[in-house]
Amino acid sequence: MKLIVAKKAGFCYGVKKAVELAEKTYAENSEPIYSIGPLIHNRFEVQRLSKIGIKPVSSVNKVKKGTIIIRTHGIPRKHVSEAKKKKLNIIDATCPFVKRVQHLVKELSKKNFYVLIIGEKEHPEVKSLISYAEKPVKIIESINEIRGLSDGKKIAVVSQTTQSLEKFNHIIKGIKSKYKNAKIFNTICTAALERQEEAEKIAREVDVVLIIGGRNSANTARLVDICKKHTITYHIESAEEINDRWFDNVHSIGILAGASTPKWIIDAVISHMKGKDWLWKI
Ligand code: SF4
Repeated sequence: MKLIVAKKAGFCYGVKKAVELAEKTYAENSEPIYSIGPLIHNRFEVQRLSKIGIKPVSSVNKVKKGTIIIRTHGIPRKHVSEAKKKKLNIIDATCPFVKRVQHLVKELSKKNFYVLIIGEKEHPEVKSLISYAEKPVKIIESINEIRGLSDGKKIAVVSQTTQSLEKFNHIIKGIKSKYKNAKIFNTICTAALERQEEAEKIAREVDVVLIIGGRNSANTARLVDICKKHTITYHIESAEEINDRWFDNVHSIGILAGASTPKWIIDAVISHMKGKDWLWKI
């Protein structure tokens, strides 16, 4: 049996920084701090953080005083203003890659571009991006939505940072055929791209892939989509979900993890797999 563990499995730069910042802030204040929405998209890590005093709340309204931390995906601007009005201490853990897109949306919109955001309407990052626009923007989830746009618009395009490159390129092709002068900004972050590339490479090599990550994690979902095209793929949140029957007649397994999956969960999955003696006799 061959086991390949992705080199890029687990926390990306932005998530690592957010978790470290939250822990450091808590250690220095010894008072609960609140993240507006989950700090990252992994419920087990959010639970761990909550136990040590970093608590997710659904909105700024729920916090009377103290410190809030802005999560990696950012939050809508009006929530930041509300926090300022309440004189809350604000720690900004928005990932720099997300900040760059927020800034782009703001500037392009100021310059009268009709900004198209390739992304998921309900994703917190996209909701935050919309709030930076000074004029209406449009979220594009599929190429079909391009067809309904009127001609003659001054178009600029950005992407949710965790979009799949394949989908981005597909939609861009459609946009370019309709708007020759559209300004295109590929804002998919390096961490997401590297993980997508590695996922494809591993999925082509193995019989089965296990992808560890939150079911609410967009970048994990991308890895699942990519791997499914090449091999049998199971999306798990923890080792407890692993079913031995998945490995009947299997000779190679790949283990990947989304950018918000902590090392302790990845290690638990690896040791769970290594503990299966029967597998290693194959
Ligand atoms: S996936 Fe990319 S954009 Fe999202 S937190 Fe990580 S580095 Fe930042």
